[in-house]
Amino acid sequence: MTRAYDEPDARPNPVPATEHDALAGIEPGAETICCHLADDRHRLGGSAATPIFQASTFVYPDLEAFEQRKQPGTPYFEYTRVGNPTTSVLQAKLAKLEQAEWSYVLSSGMAAICAALNACLHTGAHIVVVERCYYPAARYLRNYLPRFGVDSTFVAGTNADDFIAALRPETRVVYLESPTSGAFEVVDLQPIIAAAKERDITVIFDNSWASPLFFNPLAIGCDLVVHSATKFIGGHSDVVAGVVAGRSEQLERRVFREVELVGGTIDPFAAWLLLRGVRTLSVRMERHQSNALAVARTLETHSKVRRVRHPGLPSHPEHERARDLFHGSSSLFGFELVDQSQAAARRFIDALQLFHIGVSWGGYESLALGGTFFSAPSDPALIIRLHVGLETEADLIRDVEQALDKV
Ligand SMILES: *Cc1c(COP(=O)(O)O)cnc(C)c1O
Repeated sequence: MTRAYDEPDARPNPVPATEHDALAGIEPGAETICCHLADDRHRLGGSAATPIFQASTFVYPDLEAFEQRKQPGTPYFEYTRVGNPTTSVLQAKLAKLEQAEWSYVLSSGMAAICAALNACLHTGAHIVVVERCYYPAARYLRNYLPRFGVDSTFVAGTNADDFIAALRPETRVVYLESPTSGAFEVVDLQPIIAAAKERDITVIFDNSWASPLFFNPLAIGCDLVVHSATKFIGGHSDVVAGVVAGRSEQLERRVFREVELVGGTIDPFAAWLLLRGVRTLSVRMERHQSNALAVARTLETHSKVRRVRHPGLPSHPEHERARDLFHGSSSLFGFELVDQSQAAARRFIDALQLFHIGVSWGGYESLALGGTFFSAPSDPALIIRLHVGLETEADLIRDVEQALDKV
């Protein structure tokens, strides 16, 4: 008898083979995937909402059934750290949305990022990473992984040649995020991905900003896509979670090992909240996009604003690159006041009434944050970051205008 957890022999936690009957014979669009893919309602008592399987373990009628549980191609559940039916429905939807073959949902975006990275690393490996990526991810690369003999080189992603020049024979991973957190630079992805492919380097892309609806990194050659599902996928500021998705079976085995051995599995209730978020992802993304563009345009034409860093605006230096890559623009962007003093930024942020002050983003509520937080030595601009939520457009514009009046 093979030992249970050594090296999984079959796909350990397969995407359910049966999809909702309504999908038989059609290639569903993203909105239909969100609503119906993998829900399998008729096998679950007809419940319109996929149930929460709030169970740590799964029991079998006899030993023979237990021993036979791993039939290739059929989902089996034995222990929730390893797999759970509620989570599995969510994973099927997210895999399909990302044009992936598989996905795993973990207990945070950082758990997903660390699982993706660790799956590809060994002592002596080197990583090239886009400068100004999500700050805790940068800290993991800069401060934590060197303990295990893994070093990283940080390079701005706006110039592909500089980035490619940093690749070494021992580079195992290229870690990308676009637009970058805080600075909102759009990375020159295609040449970087092509260079990595030539050298057999795994490319990981953090797609939290665009969501699976506005960009699919696997479709342009990335190997693994990660998300902070805390942001748009959850969408309601009530759950912390992350996703890793990919196509290669070899990478699936390695990522799965990180999930089930390191144990960053998501709780079934949190998975169910994400499932609930996914149902409305497309309508929320449309509203986030239109509200954010409206606020960004208001800022752009205001005399107290010197620059708006929104990839959806033609004034963004990499706007054309963003337009070619993304199917839409997101709710998160930055801007700079003409008055670059800390005092002016503080006055603006404190004068906001509808926008709350806080970290995170991607929820229904508008948020603002600023300070040297988003600056870099090479680009010391004082950037104020806004996440534009689902409130009434006119209210958001009025709030930003009245706060600018107080600067
Ligand atoms: C928030 C965030 C993360 C981390 O996600 P958590 O769910 O907070 O662990 C990763 N990447 C980006 C771009 C983020 O904004």
